[in-house]
Amino acid sequence: MTNTQANVDPTEVAKFEALATSWWDIEGESKPLHEINPLRLGYIESRCELNDQQAIDVGCGGGILSEALAKSGANVTGIDMGEMPLNIAKLHALEAELTIDYQQMTAEQKAAQSAGQYDVVTCMEMLEHVPDPVSVIHACAQLVKPGGNLFFSTLNRHPKSYLFAILGAEYILKMLPKGTHDYKRFIRPSELASWCRQAGLDVHDITGLSYNPLTKTYALGDDVKVNYLMHCRKVAD
Ligand code: SAH
Repeated sequence: MTNTQANVDPTEVAKFEALATSWWDIEGESKPLHEINPLRLGYIESRCELNDQQAIDVGCGGGILSEALAKSGANVTGIDMGEMPLNIAKLHALEAELTIDYQQMTAEQKAAQSAGQYDVVTCMEMLEHVPDPVSVIHACAQLVKPGGNLFFSTLNRHPKSYLFAILGAEYILKMLPKGTHDYKRFIRPSELASWCRQAGLDVHDITGLSYNPLTKTYALGDDVKVNYLMHCRKVAD
């Protein structure tokens, strides 16, 4: 598969190239990812074992989640199509003395190469940036071992999400660069769940991840209208 045919939107990847060194600036444009990271790691750890497990972080960006998975004892591979995020991720892992295998490739390319090799697959805040999210889900389902765990997170196509994730985060609070997200690409939990089932996955849980602008804090809970996490397991053969 060449890059022009691959399931990649160059405009989307370019947005993350532009983040450059700010990936690890906890007060910069990646601040929301740093703030939600302990919550999503806690969610993953409460639902599966990470220690000594083979994990792959799909669309890993600068490695914010990949490093957390590695610190919890997983043997982590991180894949992304952005060259700059991967360079930043590699440098940061070196500084943090973590061994993480970062590779520039799509989920589909990796699935063709390493099907059934991972106990844990994570794909966070990435599906809303690809032309064909269903294809990424199928690739993730191929990457995981039978009985293995998958974790997705994305933004819901709900008016509250337009208000919070686009108007609020990009225009009012200026937490993210303008144009980071495209509402049309947001995915309803029901859509994500049905795509996962079609890919041979059991949907075990959907949990909301919401931001309180008054306390400026994030929390897991029942409100899935903006951001949410989904835990799936691959049906064992
Ligand atoms: N998962 C990380 C980063 C999210 S930002 C985290 O939550 O901390 C979204 C990432 O998806 C960016 O790094 C971008 O380069 C990557 N991405 C976008 N389209 C992609 C594609 N088709 N294949 C692989 N990575 C992609």
